[in-house]
This record gives sequence, structure tokens and C-alpha cells, in this order.
Amino acid sequence: MRGSPDRGDPGIYVHVPFCRRICPYCDFAVTPRGRRGSERTARYRTALLAEIALRAAPLGADTVYFGGGTPSLLPPDAVRELVASLVAAGLAAPAPFVILEANPEDLVRDEGLARAWAAAGVSGVSLGAQSLDRDRLRFLGRLHSPDDVRRAAAMLLDAGIPWRSMDLIYGDAAQSSAALEAELEAAAGLSGLTHLSVYELTIEAGTPFGRRAAAGERLISAETAALFRSVHETLAGVGFVAYEASSFARSKRDRSPHNPKYWTGAAYLGLGPSAHSFDPDRRARSWNHRTIAPWRDAVLRGELPVEGAEVLTARERALETVFLGLRTVAGLDLDAFAAAWGDAVVAANRDRFRRWEASGLVRTGGGRLAPTLDGLAVGDALAREVDLGLVADERAAAA
Ligand code: SF4
Repeated sequence: MRGSPDRGDPGIYVHVPFCRRICPYCDFAVTPRGRRGSERTARYRTALLAEIALRAAPLGADTVYFGGGTPSLLPPDAVRELVASLVAAGLAAPAPFVILEANPEDLVRDEGLARAWAAAGVSGVSLGAQSLDRDRLRFLGRLHSPDDVRRAAAMLLDAGIPWRSMDLIYGDAAQSSAALEAELEAAAGLSGLTHLSVYELTIEAGTPFGRRAAAGERLISAETAALFRSVHETLAGVGFVAYEASSFARSKRDRSPHNPKYWTGAAYLGLGPSAHSFDPDRRARSWNHRTIAPWRDAVLRGELPVEGAEVLTARERALETVFLGLRTVAGLDLDAFAAAWGDAVVAANRDRFRRWEASGLVRTGGGRLAPTLDGLAVGDALAREVDLGLVADERAAAA
């Protein structure tokens, strides 16, 4: 599962499942940290070290991403120890680019935290701000204030963390287009942010928001298509250029060094409960037990904590390539696609691509099929239209 020039070096994702409070829209694998938080975190750290030892192999990932959950609840010395263990196990290359998701309230509670992360080798922080509006933060169940977000962003800059990103959510029923633009401009103006990830609010069954929506409450804006356009146009106007449907960077070198691995078919290894892994050589995806107890019990018994795995068929991989390509501004590399799946597959879709181009949804040229802003907004629907019937399916061929 090594890197390749086409798909880049592997990455590592470490899931940290604890949160101070569970937000009403969240359906990630998370659990309240509770009163004995530091004890639970310490036990978790021990189990993660056990999983790293079990997975030791020459992977050489150049990025390590701590996501969650709330990784800013991990003590900086735990981050340092886990990264050192990943390097010692061969899973990470020496001096990987380490990114940590952080909640603003954790930074403002501890003035020295950002500097401690920098000293522990953290190169990037993704700040889980979600909004800069007090009422929206309350609606989203967040614990921080707009002022906490501003202070946290300034702390990251002061600490010399080179890559500083912020997550924002838009599209709840009460948010007007003007309010969204004002929030985006305020976020873009925060000290030293180099990257923004802006997501549409989605309602997931089984969450408190899911139950409210099922009871008939309208939580999502009816104008999400217009808001998507507003997000892209507003951020372009303040110097944040989109490179993926939800990802914006001040310059090319400010793009996430980790997330594109998921779009380009690079290998990634997930550690911790619910984490997913992908091995492009074996075309295999696997996932860990979703909750902490079975995951921890397995690793402490010396067993891989894998709950399930699948080998993707050629057609599934081709479809994934189309889906992921049409989410990026660079678009789908048609030459590479034809080389992987056959010229006939591309030829079978030429008329479709021409129709999309005539409708202003894509641009073609340079061997690529690149979505316009209108195309990015409906990239998933476009991907579903692509005819992959001529992709030879290994399972069918083997039958
Ligand atoms: S802080 Fe993030 S991971 Fe935790 S519950 Fe809220 S949205 Fe989910």
C-alpha cells in the first residue's frame, strides 16, 4: 500500500471520538467525554498505541490527520507520542504533516495550547467554528462564541501553525443569503486563515435534528442551490479560491495536504473506532468497529479491530473516480480515465459530455472534464448519469 506518482503518498486518519457535548446535527461516531474525561482519554491513547503496533508496516504516510470527535481534547504530549509511534512503526514517514481538528473553546480555555501543539509537531489546525453568528451557534448547539472563534484563529497564527483552516456550516432555514455572505466575509477576514471548508447543513436520521425534521419542522433552507453559488462567489471575491465543492484556499500551496488523498485514490489508513482504510493495490476498503468498546477490546486482545471490508469492482471504482472527479474544480482526467477503463467508456459518454458543456455545466479541454460552478453544484447528479456499462466488471468476467 505504497504511494504512486499518480495518486500521491498515503495518508493516516486518527479518529478521536470524544466531544464535550454532542451537537444536534452530528451523526459521526462520537461520545460525550463525560466527567472522567482525562481517564477515558488516557485509556483511549493506550488502545490507539496498541492499534498502531498491530498495524506496523512500511506505509510511509506523509500526512497524519487527527479528526473526530474533538481531537483538541487530546493532550499535546499524546499527539506527539502517537505521531512518534506512527513513524517508529513505519506507518508515517519521518516528520509527516500533522493536522488536528480543534474546537475554538479548547483553545481559549488554555492560552498555551496552540503553542504546545506547534511544539508537538502539529503543522495544521482545522478550527471547528461552523458559524460566526451567535444565534446560529446556539441553534447548532455549539459551546463557543463568535469572539472565541476570533481569538482561537489569532492564537493559531501567533503560535506559528503554518496551515490554518476553518470549518463553516451554511443552509439552515433561518439563514438569509445576505447573512451568509456577511459570515463568509467575516471568516475570510480573520487573522491568518489560509483555508476554509464550507459545508451545507444536512439532516441525518437518528440525530436530534433528524427527529425534529421528521416531526415536520423545517430546519434546512429552501434555497440551498442559491446559497451554494453565494458561498463560491463570495469567497472568490475575498481571495479564497475553490479547488473542491466545499474546499477553498488562499493559494495553491494553502490547499489541504491531506483531504485530496480521498479524491485521488491514494492509500489511507484509518485508526480508532469507525475509521476507514483504503488499499488501492488490493482495491479494498475496510472499516473499524464504530464504537469504542469493541474496537478497544479487539486491539487490546491483539486483533485488528476491523468490522467489515469490501473489494471494489471495476465499475464501482470507475463510478467513484467520476463522483470524486466531478467534485473537484480540476475535474475528471479523461485521458487517465480512458487509460484505466478503456477508450470505449469515454466514447460512449461523449454526447453526454457535449450536452453538459452546451448547458454550461462543464468545460472540456486539456483532456479534462471540469465542472463549472453550476456543474459543481450538481456534480453528484452528473456522475450518476455517466454510462459505465462498458467497464469490464472483474466479478462478471470471473463468473
Ligand atoms: S463537536 Fe463536531 S464531532 Fe463533536 S458532536 Fe459536535 S459536530 Fe460532532
